[in-house]
Amino acid sequence: MNGPLIELRHVEKRFGHGASELKVLEDINLAVNRDEIVAILGPSGSGKSTLLRIMAGLIEPLSGEVLCMGKPLKGPNPKVAMVFQTFAIFPWLTVLENVELGLLRSGLDEEERRQRALEMIDMIGLDGFESAYPKEISGGMRQRVGFARALAVNPEILLMDEAFSGLDVLTAENLRRDLLDLWEEHRIPTKAIVVVTHNIEEAAFLASRIVLLSRDPGRVIAEIPNTVSGMDRRDPRFLSMVDSIYSILTRKEMKPKIAAAERRQIPMAPVGAMTGFIELLRDLGSKADLPEVAHDLLLEYDDLLPLVEAAEMLGFARVEGGDVELTEVGERFADADVLERKEIFRAQALSAVPELKRMIKVLESKRNHRMPKDFFVEILEKHLTPAEALHRVETLIDWGRYAEILSYDEDTGQVFLEDAANSDGDLTGFKRES
Ligand code: ADP
Ligand code: MG
Repeated sequence: MNGPLIELRHVEKRFGHGASELKVLEDINLAVNRDEIVAILGPSGSGKSTLLRIMAGLIEPLSGEVLCMGKPLKGPNPKVAMVFQTFAIFPWLTVLENVELGLLRSGLDEEERRQRALEMIDMIGLDGFESAYPKEISGGMRQRVGFARALAVNPEILLMDEAFSGLDVLTAENLRRDLLDLWEEHRIPTKAIVVVTHNIEEAAFLASRIVLLSRDPGRVIAEIPNTVSGMDRRDPRFLSMVDSIYSILTRKEMKPKIAAAERRQIPMAPVGAMTGFIELLRDLGSKADLPEVAHDLLLEYDDLLPLVEAAEMLGFARVEGGDVELTEVGERFADADVLERKEIFRAQALSAVPELKRMIKVLESKRNHRMPKDFFVEILEKHLTPAEALHRVETLIDWGRYAEILSYDEDTGQVFLEDAANSDGDLTGFKRES
């Protein structure tokens, strides 16, 4: 068998129905070949988990084909095993018993299962902990139990969904290193590994090939052969690979494509975080490399990107080729005192954020200038998931409060205009202080 182990052809997936239908994956063409570690890298919500579950045969695409070793996949894929961020590990079972659990349907007898589980425990660096209970071992060790259980069944393909993201940085690094060593030394029989992650460094460290996904809908926007796997993260070649991935991720085509107004709107960036980001940029001389900023702020790129997008949307910053640069307005904002900042922010927000204007229009149309927050959330729920809708309305309220355009009462859950006298008609006529 020389063809791909798994192949997706023109795969499309949607969730929901009618107005709330969400196209998650669009025209995905992707092959996983023998002897490669493929990283699927994309921001949260780009459909990575969905894509992996399609490869595992746990969900069916709406259209397109899924082939496993050349044959159409029907139902759960028997060739794969999965590792998740939070692994289903049973507190009342020992490490050994938890690993053996993966082998219940393997056809092996009890003794063979025990032998196999012990081998895996040894291989993954858990020996000595066979009879420990989960609560007695660290988070990193528990994740190793997850790997041991998945590898025990000798899967042809190992699928990992953000398998390291619940771990602290050092623990994650150790486990990635160990996994890569096992793979390179052919100590695991697995023929290919698919790593789903939103962490650029993780993809660059593990993968032989990196597939970049955009979101809304998830599309493959680039495939990069990775030449720096296993390298020290400070190696200049490693840094330059991370840099070039960043620059692709901040290109225009990474932005949501869906034109419906509601899916293009404000990035979920709290003002406090955005202000911090702009200040840092100013300190760095108004221009910086995005990976550098992410590193300085201890942010992963999909936490940083909303801040960048928000700053761009408000006219405070420009992004080009992985660099971000403050505009003249952005510099003025960074250098201003609190009151001036609010004024600049208000002017920028009112001209750049139609959603905020719309919210104010609604409040103005009410005699008491009040409306429950839930009203706005429900409107957005037509286009977004409930959690996203809530988050977005909260961001709008956060921006509006900062700009002193509107207020929010936590107790009643109502959004309101502070000063009715100032809110008639002219949107620029808001009072500077309340
Ligand atoms: P990722 O793993 O990249 O964060 P997911 O594949 O989990 O992305 O989800 C992609 C999008 O699909 C998200 O907007 C998510 O809310 C939505 N989604 C995922 N699973 C379901 C589901 N079962 N029903 C409805 N929407 C879903
Ligand atoms: Mg996911």
